[in-house]
Amino acid sequence: MFEKIHNDIVSRDSRSRSGFGGVGGFARESVLQTFIVFLLVLAGLGYAATLFAQMPQAAQTTIAAARVWPAADYTRVTLESPQPLRYQTLSLKNPERLVLDLENVALTPALAGLNEKIGANDPYVKSVRVGQFKPNVVRLVFDLKSEVKPQVFALAPVAGYAHRLALDIYPLEPPDPLMALVDKSEKPAESAPAPAAIPPVAIAPAPPNSPAAPVETRPPATPQARAPATPDRSARADTRRPARMITIAIDAGHGGEDPGARGSSGTWEKNVTLAISRKLKERIDQEPNMRALMIRDGDYFMALGARVVKARRANADLFVSVHADAFTSPEARGSSVFALSERGATSAAANFLARKENEADLIGGVNIDVPDPFLKQTLLDLSQTATINDSLKLAKAVLGEVGTINKLHKNNVEQAGFAVLKSPDIPSILVETAFITNPDEERRLNDEAYQAKMAEAIFAGIKRYFAATPPLAREVVVRNNQ
Ligand SMILES: [Zn+2]
Repeated sequence: MFEKIHNDIVSRDSRSRSGFGGVGGFARESVLQTFIVFLLVLAGLGYAATLFAQMPQAAQTTIAAARVWPAADYTRVTLESPQPLRYQTLSLKNPERLVLDLENVALTPALAGLNEKIGANDPYVKSVRVGQFKPNVVRLVFDLKSEVKPQVFALAPVAGYAHRLALDIYPLEPPDPLMALVDKSEKPAESAPAPAAIPPVAIAPAPPNSPAAPVETRPPATPQARAPATPDRSARADTRRPARMITIAIDAGHGGEDPGARGSSGTWEKNVTLAISRKLKERIDQEPNMRALMIRDGDYFMALGARVVKARRANADLFVSVHADAFTSPEARGSSVFALSERGATSAAANFLARKENEADLIGGVNIDVPDPFLKQTLLDLSQTATINDSLKLAKAVLGEVGTINKLHKNNVEQAGFAVLKSPDIPSILVETAFITNPDEERRLNDEAYQAKMAEAIFAGIKRYFAATPPLAREVVVRNNQ
């Protein structure tokens, strides 16, 4: 049709040119009219194309990138494209499959090669088959390892990302974070049994995007083995325990689609925070009466609210979020430690930092159609003030210890509205270990010996805090407020 119109114009134009002379003016006007008609037809076609986008003739979108982030919490598949994707999903049983139909998408290598990105140890996805289902529909069939609860949602462009379609594959029952701890505690059978002070499972309602056992990089053989519906009650009832086990939740900042800040040598914050967190866990687990829960233990995104929920489900005594700072100038350096503020930040810089860290949800991508139990939880809170006082004590103790191994960016603990520190009943701090944007500190953040030193300093601060504030005292405070 285009060619026909185009040819018509060309032929009339050539006729008018050949008709030259006195009729020239008229001929030119005729060409103009034809051209306007042509433009109108073009506009009409464009309108029709948007109306009937599913028609085979419609323009195709290409998938610029396809990424897979497997984790025990959930496996995410992200499809990135220059335009928003039109899609439909369908669940099939016997065997369990999840179908994602993409309309007007070209079957490019990024899509066709998706199966190669599914690891054999993915907890939920066995494989994915990609093919042209209809002339205008590319079909992705995910073969699953168990029954799942999927969420599919679109994310608008943000922070260097184009349009993203996120497919989050959750287990039917979120794995109990305590199970990972119980398993580990039971290994040295007599010395470290299960905790006594475990609250009812539903301290906070379990959202689809909430907790799971932290074993992304080394998941056990079957998801069923890792994801029991109920905790082991016989382990809970164990009374041989000499003293209460203290649980520290370690929150490695960022992860997956949210890489955090980047150093000039290319270091991503999400990787150094995980490395330091793992070393901190190792150190804590060496203590006979302490154990550490990794809020994330792999390269995947976790919403800030889900991190809080996971720590609460494990009845953590403390929450330590590990980050690396960033600034436009490479000169900025030093460590700092933060606590939550209920009323505004203690400085403009702290406020700026909290806003930047809170952007993690936007960059990582959360499904806004799912109600956030975390919001309700913080609105109902009564004990936040007492918790913040404890958080400040913990922050001071950790800042003092970190100050022995690195310069301090700020000599005092600062406060701001960090979303990840909003557990109403768990003293929570955020440690900016060093500036990843400072070349010298970036190098040190990558150095294993320095990572261990940083972990040791944070641990020493935690010990110092508990020496002054025994965990049992806190338990009484929490109980009185319930
Ligand atoms: Zn950060």
